[in-house]
Amino acid sequence: MRRLSDKQLAWLRAELEQRRAELRHAVISLREEAKDALANLDRSDVFDEEPSGDPDVERTFQVADAAAERLVEVEAALERLDNGTYGTCEVCGELIAIERLEALPETRMCLECRREAERTGIGVP
Ligand SMILES: [Zn+2]
Repeated sequence: MRRLSDKQLAWLRAELEQRRAELRHAVISLREEAKDALANLDRSDVFDEEPSGDPDVERTFQVADAAAERLVEVEAALERLDNGTYGTCEVCGELIAIERLEALPETRMCLECRREAERTGIGVP
């Protein structure tokens, strides 16, 4: 099976580590922002479980959640780099194209499987 070169792996690791740092920062600052906005609304009594009723605050929480979900994917990709399974599609087991990994280093699927997953709605976060 074709393998990624050490150079490619090093580049992808650096890319993932940078994304992880950015996403961690984004999740923290977005959640702070949403909490501050909630405090300003004086609706801190409904914090966490119930919707604040404020669309801007809800949106900030949604963006923070989306960043948190991506962070999980990025961390999982770094784990795969460590255990040597990185770069293969978790559905069909084929090597994922380097162009795709460069564009989306945290991806778990090759393009065909991803398209199929999107079509069927299975396995797509
Ligand atoms: Zn595949």
